[in-house]
Amino acid sequence: MDIKEYEILLDNAYAELPEVLYKKERFEVPKVKGKLIKSRTIITNFTPIAKHLERNTDHFAKFMLKDLGVRGEVGSRGDLILHSRFQPEGLNKSVNKYFEQFVRCSHCQSPDTVFEDNGIILKCNACGHTANIPRL
Ligand SMILES: [Zn+2]
Repeated sequence: MDIKEYEILLDNAYAELPEVLYKKERFEVPKVKGKLIKSRTIITNFTPIAKHLERNTDHFAKFMLKDLGVRGEVGSRGDLILHSRFQPEGLNKSVNKYFEQFVRCSHCQSPDTVFEDNGIILKCNACGHTANIPRL
């Protein structure tokens, strides 16, 4: 077999890997990027994190504000503006908590889940498990 053939075989092998396995292996909860401006903390990569977790910014923001016990809003550039000063560790903890509660499947640990029935049910695309989503 020449190299070309071998490469084609390899390509096929990857193509046949179930997408779940793939996703699980390379999935990482992103770290927040932030800055402090006077008495505010701005999470500048808030929207990219929401996209990565495949959740909408409104729901994610609502959780963060509640979890951190602070007032704030999503700014025009998609940043999350918190009306208090926070260190990155606390913010990352909160993002991780969101991931555990609203993204990761409690049954198979896959991050490949979706909200169904108007955000009442969390459904796992990997194993089919469904769970009630806690109200915010
Ligand atoms: Zn699952």
